[in-house]
Amino acid sequence: MTERLFNFSAGPAILPEPVLEAARSALWTFEDSGIGILEHSHRGAYFTRVIEEAVANCRKLAGIGEDYEILFLQGGASTQFFMAPMSWLGNGKTASFVNTGTWSKKAMKEANVFGDVHVAASSEDENFSYIPTNDEISWQDNAVYAHYTSNNTIAGTQFTSIPTPPSSMPLLCDASSDIFSRPIDIGAHGMVYAGAQKNLGPSGIALVILRKDLIESANEGLPSMLQYRVHAKAGSCFNTPPTFGIYIMGEVFKWILEQGGLDAMAKINSEKAAILYDFLDESEMFRGTARKDSRSNMNVTFRANSEELEASFIKEATAAGLPGLKGHRSVGGMRASIYNAFPTKGVTALVDFMKSFEQKNK
Ligand SMILES: *Cc1c(COP(=O)(O)O)cnc(C)c1O
Repeated sequence: MTERLFNFSAGPAILPEPVLEAARSALWTFEDSGIGILEHSHRGAYFTRVIEEAVANCRKLAGIGEDYEILFLQGGASTQFFMAPMSWLGNGKTASFVNTGTWSKKAMKEANVFGDVHVAASSEDENFSYIPTNDEISWQDNAVYAHYTSNNTIAGTQFTSIPTPPSSMPLLCDASSDIFSRPIDIGAHGMVYAGAQKNLGPSGIALVILRKDLIESANEGLPSMLQYRVHAKAGSCFNTPPTFGIYIMGEVFKWILEQGGLDAMAKINSEKAAILYDFLDESEMFRGTARKDSRSNMNVTFRANSEELEASFIKEATAAGLPGLKGHRSVGGMRASIYNAFPTKGVTALVDFMKSFEQKNK
C-alpha cells in the first residue's frame, strides 16, 4: 500500500490514523451490525448511539453543560456565517466584529445581508499579521452580539485569550481551525462553531455549540433548515444529517480524550509549533510572518528571502514527501498547517528539510 505523507494541507486536513483505521473497518460493517456506517439509517439504534456518544464526548471534552446545545449542521462554517446573523439580526440591528482576516471578513459580509456590521477592531492595517489586544477592541454598546475568529487559518494568527465584550452581549466564535486544540471556556461564549475539516473530521459539516437561551430568542419564520431551534428539537436529525461526518467527529472526540483531553492537546500543540517557530527565529533564509505575540499553533505562516526561493522550496518539499506547504495567495510564501492530528515527527521532518534547503541555497 502507498505510504501516507506528512500532509500540511490547511483543510481538508490530516486526520488521526486510529480514526481512519476505525472508519475503514466501519465502512464495511459497523460493529457487529453487518451494515456499513454509510448505509445505516439515521433513525436506527446503531446511528442513534453514534450521535448520542458524539454529543456526550463533546460535552466531556470541553466541560459543556446542559445549558448549551451541541448541533451537527450542514454547509460547513460558511453556512454559520449567514445562519447566525439571520437568526439574531434584522433591520437596524448591529453585530460587532473583530476583523482579523479573510474569514472574519467573509463572516462580516454575510452578516451585512441581515443587519449592520460594526468593526470593533481590525488588524487589516498590517495585513492581519497580529491579534488586537482587548484594549484595542471597542465593541458597539448596543450590538446584538459580538464575533471573533479564534484562529486565523490564512494569516497564521491566534487569540491567546478570549475577548471580553460587555457581559450581556453574547460572544460568537468561529473556531474552525483551532477547535479542541486547547482548552476552551465555552461559558464565555454564546456560540462556538467550527467547520469540521481542520481539527474534527470531513468537510461539509459544522459543529455548533450554542447557548439554549439564544436558540429561543432567534428570529422565527425562517426556512426550517435555517433555524437552530428546529435542529435542536430534532437532535440534529431534522432531515438526513451527514451521518458519516458525525461518526468521524465522534471518533475524533474519543481520540482527543485518549490523548488526555484538551490540556494534553494544548501541550502537544504548543511544543510541536515551537519546534518550527524556534527554527524560523534562528534561520537566515526563512522568517515567520505573524507577530510573535499573535502566532498560531495551528497554521505557521512563513516566507523565504525571495519568491524564487519560495517557489523552489515548495516544489522540492512536495517532491520530498512534504505536500501542502504553499501559503494562501493573500499572504504568499508558505504555510504549515499542523492541526491536532499532525504528528510531531512531521514537524521535525520539515525543519530538517528546511535546514538542508538553507544550506544548499546559501
Ligand atoms: C476553513 C475555515 C472556514 C470555512 O469553512 P467551510 O467549512 O469551508 O465553510 C471558516 N472559518 C475559518 C476560520 C476557517 O479556517
